[in-house]
Amino acid sequence: MPYTEDRAVWAEGQGLWQHLPADTWRDWTWQLKNRITTTKQLEQLMELTPDERAGCEHANQKLALAITPYFFNLIDRRDPDCPIRKQVIPRAAEQVVSDGEMLDSLGEDEHSPVSGLVHRYPDRVLFLVTDRCAAYCRYCTRSRLVSNAQDYNFHPEYEEGLRYIAAHPEIRDVLLSGGDPLLLSDAKLEHLLARLRAIPHVEFIRIGSRIPVFLPQRITPELCAILRRHGPVWMSIHVNHPRECTADLRAACERLAFAGVPLGNQSVLLRGINDDVDVMKALVHRLLRMRVRPYYLYQMDLITGGAHFKASVRKGIEIIQALRGHTTGYAVPQFVIDAPGGGGKVPLNPDYVESVDDDAIVLRNYEGRLYRYPLAAGEPAAAAPGWEPAFVDR
Ligand SMILES: *Cc1c(COP(=O)(O)O)cnc(C)c1O
Repeated sequence: MPYTEDRAVWAEGQGLWQHLPADTWRDWTWQLKNRITTTKQLEQLMELTPDERAGCEHANQKLALAITPYFFNLIDRRDPDCPIRKQVIPRAAEQVVSDGEMLDSLGEDEHSPVSGLVHRYPDRVLFLVTDRCAAYCRYCTRSRLVSNAQDYNFHPEYEEGLRYIAAHPEIRDVLLSGGDPLLLSDAKLEHLLARLRAIPHVEFIRIGSRIPVFLPQRITPELCAILRRHGPVWMSIHVNHPRECTADLRAACERLAFAGVPLGNQSVLLRGINDDVDVMKALVHRLLRMRVRPYYLYQMDLITGGAHFKASVRKGIEIIQALRGHTTGYAVPQFVIDAPGGGGKVPLNPDYVESVDDDAIVLRNYEGRLYRYPLAAGEPAAAAPGWEPAFVDR
């Protein structure tokens, strides 16, 4: 059945927790304390499939089970194929290791000069500041360390990390991630941001966080004031499906945007969840309405036990093709594969170059019509190296 966007619906209410005082429900510390973290708790709230029950049994040896009450409410408990459900409730296939899968598929540990810092690109670093999240995505690319279910014993060394950044003037961009940096206390986060700001060559600071999606209550006025004080701080949130775009998420994005935080979104292409043109189109439209610019669409990383989430690369390109030209340019993310082993993000695009002859490049527009654009004087012509399309599909 094709997905149809309900353009009006944003509200979700308190659902199963409707009898709780609204103040308690909106308190992010209550949400964290009352996360669903055991199979027993989960079974008290919903009927699990045998597949899920098997998945839950072993989850704690791979990646902890945790779902905030707020996010749990977004699950359609009658639908085993609910796209929200599949993101956070373990399934038996998590225990299946397929060919080519790795614990550290992006080779992050090899590119880590100090614990918690990944320095892959010359001018920017990934700073992993915690191993905890508000809830755990079952396809997590960092499940080797996140939630510490595999005894990785991740201990971010802030001081060492800050010292490394300060000692490397080529680092102009610091990306705080983890785990989820917004789980740090306000005081800790403020300290970290202030220390980074004090390094003269750090000109760009951003935070990767799924807190707005799992725990929008955490986006408090106090937190926003900190981000504003040390701004500009950019933020990449992580929304995969239009049903995650609730009134609460929209309000959290608004608070962030009003604090001067430019917002982007990173989605992972997930089989049976969002590997569908209509779903992705509804998602990117919702994101724009929340002041969020779709940034990346990721092909699933080759993490152990992730094969059941893996969608086809072709489908990813088809989605981009269905967006580009057909909707607002701002709504189109860049589809990428993070190269296994640590090659970094590689963009994948539909091919719009039909051919190159002696005096023109022949372009195919979004409707499939052909157009000629004359080459510049002296420009190398036909079949010159560099003209091969990135992805040949003819
Ligand atoms: C994704 C990533 C970045 C940031 O890449 P951008 O393309 O600048 O968003 C930086 N370092 C590492 C290790 C990454 O995986």
